[in-house]
Amino acid sequence: MDPIQRLKIALARRGLASRKISETTERPLESWIHGQVRSAFNADRELRKIIGKPKLEEVERKDLEAYKLFKVRKLLSYVQENSIYYKRSLKEAGVSPSDIKTIEDLSRIPLTEPADVASEPFHFLCVSQSKVMRAYTTSGTTGQLKRMFFTRDDILHIIDSISAALKTVGMSKDDTLQIMFPTIASWDPGYMLDGACKVAGLKSVIADMLDVDEQIRVMKASNTTMMIGLTSFIYRITILARNKYDLKSLGIKAIILSAEPLPESMRREIEDAWGCKALSQYGMTEMGLATTIECKVQDGLHVNDADFLVEVIDPDTGEHVSEREAGELVFTSFNYQGTPLVRYRSYDLSCFINPPCPCGFETIGKVGKIQGRLDMMTKIGMGEKIFPLLFDEAVLSVSGVVNYQTLIERCGYRDQIRLRVEFIGNKDEARRKIEEALVLVPEIKSGLDNDLLEHPVVVMLDPGTLDFVPKTQSIVDMRHLYT
Ligand SMILES: [Zn+2]
Repeated sequence: MDPIQRLKIALARRGLASRKISETTERPLESWIHGQVRSAFNADRELRKIIGKPKLEEVERKDLEAYKLFKVRKLLSYVQENSIYYKRSLKEAGVSPSDIKTIEDLSRIPLTEPADVASEPFHFLCVSQSKVMRAYTTSGTTGQLKRMFFTRDDILHIIDSISAALKTVGMSKDDTLQIMFPTIASWDPGYMLDGACKVAGLKSVIADMLDVDEQIRVMKASNTTMMIGLTSFIYRITILARNKYDLKSLGIKAIILSAEPLPESMRREIEDAWGCKALSQYGMTEMGLATTIECKVQDGLHVNDADFLVEVIDPDTGEHVSEREAGELVFTSFNYQGTPLVRYRSYDLSCFINPPCPCGFETIGKVGKIQGRLDMMTKIGMGEKIFPLLFDEAVLSVSGVVNYQTLIERCGYRDQIRLRVEFIGNKDEARRKIEEALVLVPEIKSGLDNDLLEHPVVVMLDPGTLDFVPKTQSIVDMRHLYT
């Protein structure tokens, strides 16, 4: 049987909480999360005792915090029993579930490295293989292949949370979502998104082609009103299409930019071209996609607190950092049966922002914009750290940039940064502006001041010259060729 059919049958038996969210529901995601907390409260006497209320009508922030710690303890018992990896690692660390009483206690649990998941996927699998409905292989941005397993209930749960998130950004049954992840992306979330829409009674169309005219044709034919896709891909479509089509007349209500960080200059170009809000979404396949979504305030992404616990740590010391202080995001997925992960390192740098949020969410926190990746960094000059997103604001502040690639070369004892920029418009003027903006980037300025960096070189190219690569993979380090 087709997986979607099987899910529909399962749905008929169970019903999805997100279906109850109507157009008049205030704060859909928060209301869905509170519903999950209430279900757990009603189902578990232990949680009722911890929360200490006879009924849980209003879910307060402290109730949500208690729920998450309760879930983590439950998860630890579950993985201790069912995962070869965690049985060993928790025993070695001498931690038992009852030790975890506060957020601070979490640091007693060892971090899970992506490399461990890549090398021994079956040591993380907690159910028999006959219960696995879908296995995903993902390379993420590091190239290590990781295999993740999801049961039918896991998939239903992900679909439910995706549907709640889509309703939070304003999607209703009258809308059509165009799903725009090019097949070149490291994994294809289109299946899950499409499934989420179908099962949740929302309309969607998958459009993974690189061709701009074809994308616009599908948009018109399907009456698309919302878009979701790889950030740099939707940006590229926007720049290539905006001079050929009246994009505002297409009636797009919202655009969700996924899987890559969203520089503000890129957001502005996209919002101006389509005449609607562009919101960022961040998640990992390892966490089942629906991890965080940005709200209309556009200052951070709300965490799906029903399913995940997020910590922000100092990657060198492992200690928790303060609110809004930069550190590495660490995730625990406490509702999956297949491959739940405990304190999983993302290698992504961001920060935590406490509730309440001006959007109206009172209990669920946010993570700030992703600032870079620890394992994608390379050093130049005096040891300044360079990572793929560093030049985005400088390069994309010049209107007309379609895509760009960063090369680092060696020139005598100095490093040199060469940018290859695909551009539409007056190339000479744009090159001058980009060069001016680049020398103001602190990492470059410091290298120039210390005479360890050559002046950056910008090469302007026609659109389509560079192969399309996701933004997080766009630094090419050529220095090994010279040593
Ligand atoms: Zn908000």
